[in-house]
Amino acid sequence: MKPVYSIVAPVYNEAKTLPLFYERVRDSLNSTGETWELVMVNDGSRDESLPVMLSLAQTDARVKVVNFARNFGHQVAVTAGIDYATGSAVVLIDSDLQDPPEVILDLIVQWKAGFDVVYAVRTKREGETWFKRTTAKAFYRFIYQITEVNIPLDTGDFRLMDEKVVRVLRQMREHNRFIRGMTGWIGFKQTGVGYIRKPRHAGETKYPLKKMIGFAADAITSFSFFPLQIMIYMSGMLGVLAVIAGIVISVLRITRGGEYFGGQATTIVVLLLLSSFQMFFLFIIGQYVARIYDETRDRPLYVVASTQGFELQPPATRLSSAGPGSLHPITQVPEQTTT
Ligand code: UDP
Ligand code: MG
Repeated sequence: MKPVYSIVAPVYNEAKTLPLFYERVRDSLNSTGETWELVMVNDGSRDESLPVMLSLAQTDARVKVVNFARNFGHQVAVTAGIDYATGSAVVLIDSDLQDPPEVILDLIVQWKAGFDVVYAVRTKREGETWFKRTTAKAFYRFIYQITEVNIPLDTGDFRLMDEKVVRVLRQMREHNRFIRGMTGWIGFKQTGVGYIRKPRHAGETKYPLKKMIGFAADAITSFSFFPLQIMIYMSGMLGVLAVIAGIVISVLRITRGGEYFGGQATTIVVLLLLSSFQMFFLFIIGQYVARIYDETRDRPLYVVASTQGFELQPPATRLSSAGPGSLHPITQVPEQTTT
């Protein structure tokens, strides 16, 4: 049966948090008096997360589990949850309780008021290091500056999306995913609701600096050609500099004699500087080429090892029957295991 709300939560090593997470989601959603499902995606957890999820699914039929064959990353886990969700509104929420499940009720209010995407805006972040807060803030502002898509400031993936947005999102099978940008790209009526981002309930962040940088690179390359375009400015600047230098050196040599800029040191420094620029821009081009390569291989986004709690129709069927325009259905058909 199709529920009104689908709550989609990616899970990676959250065994300690999951029971409380489930309870708070359940209590919040029950208070709406409407039907709901909780789709949890196990993104290759190494702890007891899977057994905990399965036992939750056993006691409550509204809890459904998609179990990945390995860790595919947060954005892909969210994507799988969206693929499997059946509700009229789909809510994305982290399972570490940093996004309070009670805020879902505020999102629902705006959805009922006619908005198709309601994203939760972090008005305050608690329990995160100064470094994380500052880098995250700088990152959002930078993205905002250089991308053409309207990506709201200080929002994560915590959001509610109407079915019609979800249908479009399911067709966007790009491998380097930045979901908050993708929903911005889709459009429809969007609005934000403020909330206070809480500290993690247990465990620690799986987004260390290295992953954050990779994520930022995905976001930038997926939504902007800015890094490619700054090359033309650099080239212009260096060209002008070269002309000026040419004139200055000629004048100096003619008027003051031949000793000006005679040494090799100047040449070496300039040469190194220029090669450094060139290498940097080759790197940028490489970033785009690598992503093009990644897309052309057209591998499935994720591999599902098992599922629990879903009715027998796999999402692949739903996708291919999504009507015209669904050019990229999920290529793998998830196995259904009934336990
Ligand atoms: N997560 C995931 N796969 C990963 C890393 C994280 O499914 O490879 C989940 C994690 O369980 C959590 C959410 O994604 O529910 C956000 O991750 P995390 O809390 O580590 O990120 P942060 O909130 O620090 O940005
Ligand atoms: Mg978190």
